[in-house]
Amino acid sequence: LAARHAATRAANDEAPAAPSIGGASRSERFDALVVGAGFAGAVLAERLASQAGQRVLVIDRRDHVAGNAYDHFDAAGVLVHRYGPHIFHTNSQRVVDYLSRFTDWRPYEHRVLASVEDKLLPMPINRTTVNGLYGLDLRSDAEAAAFLAARAEPVAEIRSAEDVVVSAVGRHLYETFFRGYTRKQWGLDPSELDRSVTARVPTRVDTDDRYFLDRFQAMPAEGYTAMFERMLDHPGITVRTGTDYRMVRERIEVGHTVFTGPVDEFFDHRFGKLPYRSLAFRHETHDRPQFQPVGVVNYPDAAIPHTRITEYKHLTGQRHAKTSISYEVPSEEGEPYYPVPREESRAIYRRYEALANAMPNVTFVGRLATYRYYNMDQVVAQALATFERMGSAGGRASAA
Ligand code: FAD
Ligand code: UDP
Repeated sequence: LAARHAATRAANDEAPAAPSIGGASRSERFDALVVGAGFAGAVLAERLASQAGQRVLVIDRRDHVAGNAYDHFDAAGVLVHRYGPHIFHTNSQRVVDYLSRFTDWRPYEHRVLASVEDKLLPMPINRTTVNGLYGLDLRSDAEAAAFLAARAEPVAEIRSAEDVVVSAVGRHLYETFFRGYTRKQWGLDPSELDRSVTARVPTRVDTDDRYFLDRFQAMPAEGYTAMFERMLDHPGITVRTGTDYRMVRERIEVGHTVFTGPVDEFFDHRFGKLPYRSLAFRHETHDRPQFQPVGVVNYPDAAIPHTRITEYKHLTGQRHAKTSISYEVPSEEGEPYYPVPREESRAIYRRYEALANAMPNVTFVGRLATYRYYNMDQVVAQALATFERMGSAGGRASAA
């Protein structure tokens, strides 16, 4: 697999016909330019080339395709995700059918434990979590529901990420599992974030300890990068990594541009910077087969700088004498990873969105360009819908 990655990358990174800056000569012409080779860009490029017969140039300023889903074999030969754990889960058969053209799947149900008070307890909170934290023996869903109901605080209108949790499980569980984690992750108190943030992690009264309940949960059998390489492996598609939009935008002729980077950057931050939360990843390899019992352990304690540790072999099923892990430390500065779900940032986004909608030859799609806290499957669905709106001629459309 490693050899396949390298071979395809070399084929994609072929030298341009004429000497040039940024890998594209002035005379080059494409029907479409796709900026960003993550899910949004790869789906659009694949559709435009295979369904609309277009000649497409895909660029990414990183030195690889697959965007944040990029995986690779590290120095020890362990398959890791450079930008943190990516677990594929969806209820959309359409998205599964589409991606299944480019990959087989390895069934995988994600499990997360939270490290609190020297214990590792299931996250999302379930009956086992409550029993473990309080030394109880609640035996039925009804008993657990009654226990939580007695602690839940009534909230007249559930507006914030704090309200969601406090109204479901009360203040002690909220403070133990959510407040510190969220403050670290976002640099904001949960009371300052939309309810949608913590609503991603529901509370359960049964003992189901899977992180996601989606109908389809699996990992690409040979990894994400291999899947992306197959998506982009089309005679109509040219891929150039290590190439920023600013390097090529004046140097190539294109009928249409699909932009999947940060929308505020496209418009030179004219309404100010949109807040995006960043992360620093610290990757380590350990000389033993297993580091922790599950794929991800969360650290809600505010005194610990990292939010979670991922051990990739649980996700990929790889067998190896060593194991590789990554720590995630959130930060204000750095690559944009998360749009910040709150009204203040959406108000800025709406101003950029109005500019974006007025661009006749540019389509904005994906997590950064439409400023939405989307999972991978949602980005694929958004990109497929965007392509349909563009019509078979590949004309302009904006993402909904
Ligand atoms: P990206 O993957 O960010 O791709 C955009 C690309 O555009 C980037 O590669 C960037 O380099 C490039 N680019 C930007 N500007 C320029 C420019 N000017 N010139 C050239 N190139 C440019 N989703 C799940 O479904 N399950 C998970 O478990 C999961 N875990 C996640 C964990 C982390 C830590 C993070 C950050 C995200 C996670 N996600 C997960 C979300 C997932 O990463 C996104 O939904 C998905 O990758 C978004 O795809 P995209 O194409 O919109 O953006
Ligand atoms: N969260 C938390 N404690 C946890 C897990 C999640 O407080 O142990 C909150 C936190 O605000 C986080 C949000 O719930 O940002 C969504 O969690 P998810 O695991 O979906 O985040 P992602 O995988 O997108 O980083």
